[in-house]
Amino acid sequence: MANRDYSVRQLMELEACTNCQACADICPAVCAAGDGELSALFRMKGLKEIVKGRSSLLRKIFKKKGPSEETWKHFSDTAFRCTLCGSCQEVCPVGIHLKELWLSLRQDLVHSSVYPKKINMIKENLEESYNVFGEDNEERAEWVEDMREEPEDGYIRDKAEVVYFTGCTAAYFPIAQKIPIALAEVMDAGGVDFTLLGEEEWCCGFPMLGAGLMDLFQEFRNHNIRAVKEKRAKKIVFACPSCYQMWREYYRPEGIEIHHASQFLIDLVKQGRVPLKELDITVTYHDPCDLGRGAHVYDEPREVIRAIPGITFVELPHNREECRCCGGGGNLEMVDAKLSAEIAKAKIDEILSTGAQAVITSCQQCVRTMITYVRRNKISLEVLDITQLIQRALKR
Ligand code: SF4
Ligand code: SF4
Repeated sequence: MANRDYSVRQLMELEACTNCQACADICPAVCAAGDGELSALFRMKGLKEIVKGRSSLLRKIFKKKGPSEETWKHFSDTAFRCTLCGSCQEVCPVGIHLKELWLSLRQDLVHSSVYPKKINMIKENLEESYNVFGEDNEERAEWVEDMREEPEDGYIRDKAEVVYFTGCTAAYFPIAQKIPIALAEVMDAGGVDFTLLGEEEWCCGFPMLGAGLMDLFQEFRNHNIRAVKEKRAKKIVFACPSCYQMWREYYRPEGIEIHHASQFLIDLVKQGRVPLKELDITVTYHDPCDLGRGAHVYDEPREVIRAIPGITFVELPHNREECRCCGGGGNLEMVDAKLSAEIAKAKIDEILSTGAQAVITSCQQCVRTMITYVRRNKISLEVLDITQLIQRALKR
């Protein structure tokens, strides 16, 4: 075991924590579980001990034992019961890059063989099927068959100006499949020359980041970049903020523009390519963690909502940088479904306090998490992705 999973900056940041507890007060996992050990503060303390213990000369000379197996396991459990929402990083007065630290920590825990066993399943699924759910990758674009007007070519074209990269959740979860259907319909209405990658789309790598499996990433990155380049595309569009984040931060392909769907949609609306009819509905907006705090895309989704005539828009009490996580991030559902649902409950209660009839978001995972909660609890609230809202407002 070594500290090779951390950068020098991260090791220095461990010393910068002032124990102010701001990260604990804001953490959705701490608030939902009432357990301070899930906080960034607790994790910082534990990590500091581990890192120091490994490199301590005195420990080596006296052959002092490191943390017991039980301590390690407990620490690992708390590290994976985190949605990677980034709220702790947002409020940390010292500016510690906490989210990045949690990713390095998970990688360290996997390298140290102290991790939830469900991660083995994620690894197997990715290695064997190229998607996180272990589904047949040839079926990635099967949602096209559920469209009102199914295109003959199934949107698999030899070349196109735009590649629509759907992501695993939207490709395989029936609740989320409505999102690619909506975006494809809107792109058709706007006359966009686009293609899907179909089975040539492999997982973007985000689940590897959250599961400490980045050793697998390069192969997936190289494959996806090659597949996009073969289409001679100039742009890639993502409805999933996590795929968008991976391409922005970890792929960085030369000569290809990267757009989140909300950015692409507002351009189409401003160019007058998708005329919109009036919608008489009151909505609020949930900023997905990876799109909001992660990529600072706050304005475009709001511009899209406000572009629809007749709509009433109310902000959530906690919005933009302060928006609270829905509970769906960080592979939490796989590790602790109960905690994920408790975080979703707090989110839905906040949404209901606004009196909105629908909550709009820009993320397939947020849609899936919030719909699952409202359906299970028979709550009268519509949950829509921004693409579905525009689909509904299209003048046909
Ligand atoms: S990333 Fe979010 S869930 Fe994880 S420790 Fe920070 S605030 Fe808590
Ligand atoms: S907010 Fe930052 S400085 Fe304060 S306890 Fe958390 S990690 Fe430490």
